[in-house]
Amino acid sequence: MTDTVRGPSPFWVVKCPDCSTEQPVFSRPSTAVSCTVCGATVATPTGGQAKIRGELVRTLGG
Ligand SMILES: [Zn+2]
Repeated sequence: MTDTVRGPSPFWVVKCPDCSTEQPVFSRPSTAVSCTVCGATVATPTGGQAKIRGELVRTLGG
């Protein structure tokens, strides 16, 4: 048994602060993530877990 692949879910569902669209976002992106509908930035890379600009609705996977 190993815990190396467990831990926080790799994907988050984030609600866009501008148009309220919910979309999956990788929790550790290397580039900024834009809303698929309005293009607003919903997550920015920090070198670790993304900084979410909208609302974190729930997590996926795990
Ligand atoms: Zn949007």
